[in-house]
Amino acid sequence: MKKYDVIIIGAGPAGIVTGVTVKKYYPEKSVLILTEEKKGLVPCGIPYIFNILNSVEADVMGPKPLLDIGGEVIVDQVTDVNLEQKIVYGKSDQNYGYDKLVFATGSLPVKATFIKGHNLENVFYIKKSYQYIQELYEKLKYKREIVIVGGGFIGAEVAEQLAAHPDKEITIIESESQCFSKAFSKKLSKIATEQLRKTMVKVRTSSLVEEIAGSQGAVEKVILKGGEEIQADAVILSIGYKPNTDLAVKAGLPLNIMGAIKVDSYERTSVKDVCAVGDCSQTIGFLTGRSDHIMLASTATAEARVLGYNLFGIRIKKNFKGTIAVFSTQINGLTMASAGINENTGKDANVNFLTAEFTDVDRHPGTLPDASPLTVRLNFSPCDGAILGAEVWGGPSAAEIINTLSLAIQKYITVYELISFQVGTHPLLTGAPTKPVIIKAAEIAIGMLRHAEK
Ligand SMILES: Cc1cc2nc3c(=O)[nH]c(=O)nc-3n(C[C@H](O)[C@H](O)[C@H](O)COP(=O)(O)OP(=O)(O)OC[C@H]3O[C@@H](n4cnc5c(N)ncnc54)[C@H](O)[C@@H]3O)c2cc1C
Repeated sequence: MKKYDVIIIGAGPAGIVTGVTVKKYYPEKSVLILTEEKKGLVPCGIPYIFNILNSVEADVMGPKPLLDIGGEVIVDQVTDVNLEQKIVYGKSDQNYGYDKLVFATGSLPVKATFIKGHNLENVFYIKKSYQYIQELYEKLKYKREIVIVGGGFIGAEVAEQLAAHPDKEITIIESESQCFSKAFSKKLSKIATEQLRKTMVKVRTSSLVEEIAGSQGAVEKVILKGGEEIQADAVILSIGYKPNTDLAVKAGLPLNIMGAIKVDSYERTSVKDVCAVGDCSQTIGFLTGRSDHIMLASTATAEARVLGYNLFGIRIKKNFKGTIAVFSTQINGLTMASAGINENTGKDANVNFLTAEFTDVDRHPGTLPDASPLTVRLNFSPCDGAILGAEVWGGPSAAEIINTLSLAIQKYITVYELISFQVGTHPLLTGAPTKPVIIKAAEIAIGMLRHAEK
């Protein structure tokens, strides 16, 4: 049995970033990733396989960065782990010894076992699996009426991409009054849903699926509560993801109430030399300080970097307290982005905040041909002006502006400090230096705080 200094189970974003970080920082250590699939996908790119990329191959993500610096990758599904003897068992009958073990087994789609007909033929999920998505891509080519259940950002992105094919009729069914309601505030969820409605997607909100019905074992229609029927050649269930922890449980690792592997702030489990990172591991909310159900590549890879540098003793102190859930998407050309708390997550955790909003254009002068509106919404503390959350929407720069605001949240920047924030500008690339959107929103916030003082 060959022994490695580090074995990582899973070659998703968390597994690869952990492996590359360890190997770069500790080049003398042997690092092995065990992965169940020969080819991996860029998970966030999966929706675009169905139209913009128009190919599964174009979305392939591999462990080349690790191989290039001397790491090893073996395709072998891990079936069991003996934490006492430090042995990992592969499906191939190979065993592997380790000094440090990292679970990076990710997440799996939530199965809709509570919906009658969920197991009919041509009912699918968005699995982060090359083989599964390859088969789905081929099958959907020949399906005309496709119903997507779940209007979160993944269901909506897939719906938008499929609806770009003129021969297809795509319906999305969402139980909440707006799509995107888990990702965005009420206001931005409404804007996002309206944007989705402007595409060829038929959007059904406040609608519950009661049954998926078919004949001869294959799906034919979706029946909504109230009896309405929607014809369907295929159904895609996109109702959420859950941590993939069966292996960890089998090995004896404890889970938290969200069903994720319990870890400390350096991603260490309660078992010495065993860590967990990414979607399969516990996530703490940055502001709430309690377990959150957030599965994003931004969180997974940040955790992976912290773990990678600190796997052989704490060397680079972790300077974030938890997930800021920073995220962006684009629907029908509108970029929408969010970080930190909004009224849904804030209310849930009893966090009070005020909101300031500013809209301008993302070029100067705004008469330039590709100028788009750009809105920044800051959620800030009424006590000290600290930025607790933000949303940005409009032109493509919204996706990078939210990353600046994510750092502001992480570093406890206040709206007062933003007054001295220096912003680089150029007519063809940004809004005007006289009114940078973040600073203008901060000025509105300061005005609100001053008003509250009086
Ligand atoms: C369609 C889609 C779009 C998304 N878009 C975004 C986005 O725009 N922005 C964003 O921040 N996040 C996005 N996400 C979320 C993001 O993809 C996840 O947070 C990220 O994939 C988590 O990475 P991970 O490495 O923890 O897990 P995963 O990506 O799930 O990887 C886990 C890996 O472990 C392997 N594995 C599991 N068990 C075993 C075993 N026993 N043996 C060997 N290998 C095993 C799996 O095959 C898999 O390759 C999206 C997700 C989906 C599905």
